[in-house]
Amino acid sequence: AKNSGRNTYCFFEDAMQKRADQRLKVEKELRYAIDNNQLELYYQPQLDSAGQCVSAEALVRWNHPERGVVAPGEFIPIAEESALIERLGRWVLRAGCWQLQEWQNDGIYLDHLAINVCARQFHCGDIVQDVRDALDYFGVDPSRIILEITESLIVENVIDTISKMNELKTLGVRISLDDFGTGYSSLRYLKQLPIHQLKIDQSFVRDVASDESDLVIVETILSMAHHLRLEVVAEGVETEEQLALLQARNCEYFQGYYFCRPVPSAQFVAYVEEARNK
Ligand code: C2E
Ligand code: CA
Ligand code: CA
Ligand code: CA
Repeated sequence: AKNSGRNTYCFFEDAMQKRADQRLKVEKELRYAIDNNQLELYYQPQLDSAGQCVSAEALVRWNHPERGVVAPGEFIPIAEESALIERLGRWVLRAGCWQLQEWQNDGIYLDHLAINVCARQFHCGDIVQDVRDALDYFGVDPSRIILEITESLIVENVIDTISKMNELKTLGVRISLDDFGTGYSSLRYLKQLPIHQLKIDQSFVRDVASDESDLVIVETILSMAHHLRLEVVAEGVETEEQLALLQARNCEYFQGYYFCRPVPSAQFVAYVEEARNK
């Protein structure tokens, strides 16, 4: 028994070592990827209630030389464990601002682009400076960027959140509260913080047509948001039925596979042009 205990211990130690090695490897590869153009932004349309594509959410992908297209869930958490996320975040901000201008030159005008920002990037880095730099560099108007942050990011450091969000507001950049309803309930912050928009999490949208409680949650979020003069985006819209239910309750914007998956820029442009000609 003594022996097997020791073996178990060694086994765990090996497994932990392996995981640490693996993480270091990915970190190194990711650092290389950022500097060597292996990252790419995909874009998912956001439509208004008239069916017009008025904006998009930028979602990062890693074109890995061996693994192909890698989804952010596989590398953002690793980047977030180190200062790498700040570099990645700056890359995303710049790529997004560049793309907005590029589209505009090609006759594709979006009201704004939504860009995801995670906790470490927001609190540890100088997010305000990073945003300002990217906007200035490409001559993008601040009102055309919406930063998507989560409730947990706020709760992690309320003082820092308040001061940085106020600076961003002064700059003219807007804030959207992503995955709303899934994190620590922070209803108080809706009033205190300069938030412009709520995104109803896709977990509530998924069963909105079949589950009475989800419908009530969605209705409650919409009614509360509208009383607080916040606009609402529903994410994860996959069916016509979901869309109809949300539209009937005055949700302003919609995003999901029902319209379009996140796609590379060229496909996004094709989507917008096709929708325009309909
Ligand atoms: P998120 O911000 O909640 O993004 C929504 C996710 O839902 C995206 O996954 C999107 O592809 C997916 N989605 C969109 N429509 C539908 C739908 O109709 N049905 C379903 N089932 N899913 C849908 P993705 O692209 O894999 O991104 C995952 C997460 O990675 C994002 O969640 C976000 O938290 C993070 N992320 C993505 N890009 C960035 C980035 O540039 N920076 C940071 N910090 N995080 C990012
Ligand atoms: Ca998001
Ligand atoms: Ca979300
Ligand atoms: Ca999410």
